[in-house]
Amino acid sequence: MGVLRQEDLGSFDVAIVGAGPIGAACAYEAAGRGAGVAVLEATAGWGSECADASAGWVCPSFAGPFVRRSELLAATRWLARPDSPLAIRASPRLLPWLWTLLRRSDPRRVEEVARILGDLATASARLHRALTQEGVDTGWRASGLLDVYSNRHDYEAGCAHAAAQGEAGLRAESVDPGQIPSLPAAAAPPAGAILYPDEAVCPPSQFVEALGAAAERRGAVLLPGRRAIYMERTSNGVRLHAAQGVVRAETVVICAGAATPLLVGRRARVPIVGGRGYAFEVPRPRPVDEPGPLVYLHEQRIAVTPWTDAIRFAGTLELGYADGPPKGRRVAGISRGARRAFPDLEWQRAKPVRSGARPCTPDGLPVVGRLDRDGKVIVAAGHAMLGLTLAPITGALVGGLLEGGSSPDPTLRALSHRRFE
Ligand SMILES: Cc1cc2nc3c(=O)[nH]c(=O)nc-3n(C[C@H](O)[C@H](O)[C@H](O)COP(=O)(O)OP(=O)(O)OC[C@H]3O[C@@H](n4cnc5c(N)ncnc54)[C@H](O)[C@@H]3O)c2cc1C
Repeated sequence: MGVLRQEDLGSFDVAIVGAGPIGAACAYEAAGRGAGVAVLEATAGWGSECADASAGWVCPSFAGPFVRRSELLAATRWLARPDSPLAIRASPRLLPWLWTLLRRSDPRRVEEVARILGDLATASARLHRALTQEGVDTGWRASGLLDVYSNRHDYEAGCAHAAAQGEAGLRAESVDPGQIPSLPAAAAPPAGAILYPDEAVCPPSQFVEALGAAAERRGAVLLPGRRAIYMERTSNGVRLHAAQGVVRAETVVICAGAATPLLVGRRARVPIVGGRGYAFEVPRPRPVDEPGPLVYLHEQRIAVTPWTDAIRFAGTLELGYADGPPKGRRVAGISRGARRAFPDLEWQRAKPVRSGARPCTPDGLPVVGRLDRDGKVIVAAGHAMLGLTLAPITGALVGGLLEGGSSPDPTLRALSHRRFE
């Protein structure tokens, strides 16, 4: 019987698993601190399915727990509808996760999560802008975001949310949508609209590729086509066994999105499940110079991202479906709402649908921190709807951990996996 030889892929200070937005940001920060970095990616290069399906928003005003208990209960009416924006397929893995969600979603805790995510997103939005000033061409654009409502009751709740955001320092104003030239008449909401003028956007694939390339310029090495399979602790670090190869590293950072629990294994409880969403783009009849603000069709839960030559529509949260084929009727649900609001696009030339599994924890906060006492294994995952927004701040937090401080930082305490023990 032949023995399968494993290639020695080298020895590094830091091995990062996953080349999505979080892995790219961690690589950029780690290499910037002078560490020798390898990034193992199961697929062909920088970028991920999930990021490719993203709406690209960098929007602190939307940073909150991705689902609140009241919404979850109200959404039970959606569950029977095959075209609804929320679906849950109960499975043995999902049930304990849902139970944790229900236990941890009392209003006090939800407000605390919203505050932490808001602070992280605001800090991260500043870092997004700083990246462009450092010459990393992520495609960042100060777009503004228009939150549009067709229902008066929802609009009033939106105004209360905007007022609270204002107290936290985010500008928001009620606007007459007729004054937004890029908004088609059919999308002008009967109930009202709120403009968040400081929000921004990045083409998501460009963000990851540009940050990955910048990390490589700082000396990081990308190892594509290398799925990490398991980790083995050694006296001075970690041996990371990957597809036909082994990497030796002083520290491993796991940024594997929804697949993170597979690699963490029994080391710790990191309850992340995939929350699948869909996105597709429809060309404009002719390119425009000013794409205009992002739009959220509030009641339909559809995120609209205008580019110069096309508009991207994204939505849906399917918990427990990550592995099956895309659900055509749910995509049709997004398509119907989008087409009603933006009828003048070239719908017959709509591009194929992309789907991606958002890495979701039950309380809506990511898990960022050391898994073991000596800090040889770090995890940075579970950013749900906010991975692109929070990538730069996550990279900075991981960079701090790699520098080895004992870290009394209260934010890191809140993000620790220990909250699930
Ligand atoms: C429809 C939709 C819209 C979204 N819109 C937004 C938005 O507007 N703004 C925003 O901030 N976020 C948005 N998101 C969320 C965002 O895309 C995710 O939070 C983000 O992609 C998570 O980044 P990540 O790097 O943690 O994981 P991922 O993007 O999933 O990347 C993980 C990478 O790890 C690799 N990997 C996994 N396991 C292994 C292994 N064992 N070995 C090697 N490699 C491995 C995967 O191949 C993948 O490339 C959206 C997501 C969806 C689906």
